[in-house]
Amino acid sequence: MKTVQDYIRTIPDFPKKGIQFRDVTTLFADPRGFRMAVDQLLHPFMGAPIDLVIGLEARGFILGGAVAHQLGKGFVPVRKKGKLPGKTIEQAYALEYGEAVVELHDDAIKAGQRVLIVDDLLATGGTAEAGIKLVERLGGVVAGCAFVVDLPDLGGRKRLEDMGHAVHVLCEYE
Ligand code: 5GP
Repeated sequence: MKTVQDYIRTIPDFPKKGIQFRDVTTLFADPRGFRMAVDQLLHPFMGAPIDLVIGLEARGFILGGAVAHQLGKGFVPVRKKGKLPGKTIEQAYALEYGEAVVELHDDAIKAGQRVLIVDDLLATGGTAEAGIKLVERLGGVVAGCAFVVDLPDLGGRKRLEDMGHAVHVLCEYE
């Protein structure tokens, strides 16, 4: 039987030379692959006390929306700066060169709500950490973080686990 990893395609030299881009569009496009990924992502959290699913832009929306639907929970997006129409809080994080800013509607999470954070890939953990900080600034509790792919050499998993968070990944690329 095929695994989730079997559906992921690697594109060399994207977005720049030397980067091996793990392309999950081929996973999403396959009905068995997509269902397997969503089922496996939410598996540890079925029956757990979770109030909301947070998706990180942009592939986290595709996965997070499906996970939220399956868990019977609401979905909340963490978006890149300037995309959300209502009042937001923002969080900057470091990129290889420069920084990026993500935002969350300031009324999207009520204090004490437990959230599951979903994205396609965990690399340095900077994006996920920014999402976690936004959730926590609104008084939310991060119940777990789930990713299809982990790149362990880049240290994101350790970074999130050192912050005390439960990290669930479906596959790794060294
Ligand atoms: P981090 O902040 O952990 O360094 O990077 C993770 C973010 O970058 C995720 O939102 C992810 O979508 C994106 N990303 C970085 N590299 C890749 C890649 O090779 N494949 C995919 N699908 N996303 C990537």
